[in-house]
Amino acid sequence: MRQKHGQNFLIDNNIANNIIKASNLEKRDTVLEIGPGKGILTKIIQPRVHRLTAIEIDANLFLRLNHYFTFHNAENIALINEDFLKCNMKTLIEPLENNASKKEKTIFKIIANLPYNMGTAIIQKILPLKTWSTAVFMLQKEVVERLASKPGSKDYGYISIFTSYYADCAVLFDVSPKCFNPSPKIVSSVIKLTNRLPDAPVPMFFDFVKHAFSMRRKTILNCVGSFKDLEKSNATLITDNLQLDPFLRPDKLSISDFLSLTKELKKHTICRVRR
Ligand code: SAM
Repeated sequence: MRQKHGQNFLIDNNIANNIIKASNLEKRDTVLEIGPGKGILTKIIQPRVHRLTAIEIDANLFLRLNHYFTFHNAENIALINEDFLKCNMKTLIEPLENNASKKEKTIFKIIANLPYNMGTAIIQKILPLKTWSTAVFMLQKEVVERLASKPGSKDYGYISIFTSYYADCAVLFDVSPKCFNPSPKIVSSVIKLTNRLPDAPVPMFFDFVKHAFSMRRKTILNCVGSFKDLEKSNATLITDNLQLDPFLRPDKLSISDFLSLTKELKKHTICRVRR
């Protein structure tokens, strides 16, 4: 039976401590935890930081944690019973901003043992924000490999480019299925992301990357030519202008190749609309 909400709870205290260690927590930190579950990480984080917000989708787990932290008179934690994917980030960040000067934006660290079925969706919601500094995530090993993969690898794709656009990644360690209850069928890995605070992406950049990887066995000439119905002659012009081998596959292109292609595509798309 599939676990509801990806509920494989960490039961190994060494692994929990190693995840916290990787976050380099300091007493002045504000932290966001996604999916605290039964609280193995939450209970280590809360006494060590200035403020902690933890968002849990499951009402029973939320009540159980709420009871624990009320009993322990913990005043620096805000527990929220919501779906992280549906929540408004503003309402989530406000409790983190408690006591912070209105002018100063609170920068928070993120820690999460993410539910397997929605790890990448959660990551895509967080990464574009400017208000986080580091994120330590536990996910399926296979997903961590995709997040951190480089051009030329079979794992390289849209999510690798999305991740490396916003963050520097370091893959830290693997975690055996035995460290969870119930035990999942797959190995997990822990990854640390550091916000690169990039400028907003050029318009159409991620649309084009997604389009190219949806046809990853085709040549880049094909990918360019079929994007927003660009004419084939324009596609050749674009790869020629960039001195890019038109017969390369998308998985051989670096993030900067994709950025250059999008800038050229944008010029040609605008020209077509104006004519
Ligand atoms: N942090 C705990 C641990 O390490 O044992 C639990 C990890 S478990 C893999 C994932 C947790 O995320 C579960 O408690 C689950 O209920 C919660 N969760 C799943 N989807 C969620 C969502 N969309 N928003 C918030 N929490 C979610």
